[in-house]
Amino acid sequence: MIPASYIRRLGPLLEELKQRFYQNDRSGVAQESTAMNPDEKVLDSVFQTLVERLSRNYPFHHHRYAGQMLKPPHPAAWLAYALSMTVNPNNHALDGGPEASVMEKEVMERLTAWTGFPAGSLGHLTSSGTIANLEALWVARQLHPDRPVAISSLSHYTHRRMCGLLNHPVVEVPSGDDGFPDPSLLDPAAPLPGTLVVTLGTTGQGRVEPLHTLVRWAEEKGVRIHVDAAYGGFYYLLRKSGLIDPEPWEALPRADSLVIDPHKHGLQPYGCGSVLFRDPSAGRFYHHDSPYTYFTSDERHLGEISLECSRAGSAAVALWLTMELLSAEGLRSMLSDCRKAALKLHEGLMENDQFESLMRPELDIVTFVPRAKSSRCSEISMLSKKILKIGMQTDQLYLSTMDLDSQQVRRSLPGLEVDQDHVTVLRSVLMKPEHLSFVPEMLDRLNMLYRQADRN
Ligand SMILES: *Cc1c(COP(=O)(O)O)cnc(C)c1O
Repeated sequence: MIPASYIRRLGPLLEELKQRFYQNDRSGVAQESTAMNPDEKVLDSVFQTLVERLSRNYPFHHHRYAGQMLKPPHPAAWLAYALSMTVNPNNHALDGGPEASVMEKEVMERLTAWTGFPAGSLGHLTSSGTIANLEALWVARQLHPDRPVAISSLSHYTHRRMCGLLNHPVVEVPSGDDGFPDPSLLDPAAPLPGTLVVTLGTTGQGRVEPLHTLVRWAEEKGVRIHVDAAYGGFYYLLRKSGLIDPEPWEALPRADSLVIDPHKHGLQPYGCGSVLFRDPSAGRFYHHDSPYTYFTSDERHLGEISLECSRAGSAAVALWLTMELLSAEGLRSMLSDCRKAALKLHEGLMENDQFESLMRPELDIVTFVPRAKSSRCSEISMLSKKILKIGMQTDQLYLSTMDLDSQQVRRSLPGLEVDQDHVTVLRSVLMKPEHLSFVPEMLDRLNMLYRQADRN
């Protein structure tokens, strides 16, 4: 929930904006259409309906929501977005969002620095991580039209889809015993990939692929690296904290392109993704002319280096304000609490006789299973689903589930009897700093849910 102190600011700030910007009153406007300006009663009624419908959501804002990768935006981001929405800048061009475009460039400079990319890298915001990855894959195809894009079994599902859209071949790098991609297992007779996608923070379990070793292979072979850090990217800021393994992160600046989503861990409302290219000459692929825009400035317009045309300038404004307000230190502190929460939950589960944690989390996603009386995959899956359902129905705890295939089961849960081709496990994304103090209560709630699920 947005705190009252932020909500109270909106009125006075709008008033100030009105004096500075909306000086022209509407007295010069011709006949106002009543169809566009319904009366108060109609307004009251539709807004009542709206509030009723909006309340039909899961409590994403609350710490007992520890399910999917959903994080409430910072209240300051909300305030900046709301204010700027009244102007509604379009960051396609400096014509549509003069100031918001400059703010987007500043935001990208900060994102560049916060991920260790060299100053002068080329980047922009996108409406999502998927579109940001599409742009990186598209550039990958333009650079190496005859060589496939390589992904891993842990890559986000949209990479395959977007390569399909680009009509470009994909090859999956086989995994080694640790579950991570091992390019030495690629068929030597097949064409060498042009670009390898490496995920820092997989969506399922928050795994960090070993970029430091993969980049060595890639540099030796002349393969480009695209890092998909849509979810995990801000963790670069924690590499020196002792809380995460620094090695893969230290290698991040050696990647050729990078995707990082401010709407995942960067406290922004949807949709705010971003893409960065270390070599700014990637901009040449975007080159086009638009006869009806790009009038007001000879400087580069963001639409000239982005696949999308219209984009919400307000997304840049909200991110700019959040960065200005919190700086890297604020994000570092928030992430370190999320990380500690995940470690604490994992440790709590290890000492618990009703649950078992699948692995020590690498970022802030914990996966675990209830210990069933039998060790069959089918039993455990059923119990996991029951716990998820009861938790949500009784409003006690919101978790999510994840299906692991039999190969992953053998690796993470070697004691299980594989009587079906997958096992459903519980998954919790602890991406709110408040989760850190909630962990003891979360463990109590899990134990209670276990008993309830076991009974019926
Ligand atoms: C979320 C995610 C995506 C997709 O990003 P959207 O913003 O949801 O489109 C891609 N890759 C990874 C690793 C993700 O976690």
